[in-house]
Amino acid sequence: MFLSNANHEENQPAHLTLKDPSVPVDVNLAIYAGPESRYRPAAVYEFVKSEDGSDRLVINAQNCVHCKTCDIKDPTQNILWVTPEGGGGPNCPNR
Ligand code: SF4
Repeated sequence: MFLSNANHEENQPAHLTLKDPSVPVDVNLAIYAGPESRYRPAAVYEFVKSEDGSDRLVINAQNCVHCKTCDIKDPTQNILWVTPEGGGGPNCPNR
């Protein structure tokens, strides 16, 4: 993440949301082995075990480098990616 030079303002609204929060575990993990956990490059989506042994999806949105892969590739189109506020995202100094 350091090398991407990505930047996000603190306390801005989430730019990654799920249309239906049950889909990652009930559909994507159950049927497709959780492809969102393998989207490159930033390990934003992680399946973790809750204390009761159930799976849940954690979204590390601060790691997002805005490649938009998840928005395009999610099997059920359940992930909604929007542009971050205030010029957040990768810093491309040579553009
Ligand atoms: S836009 Fe790219 S980096 Fe951001 S969460 Fe989706 S796949 Fe990961």
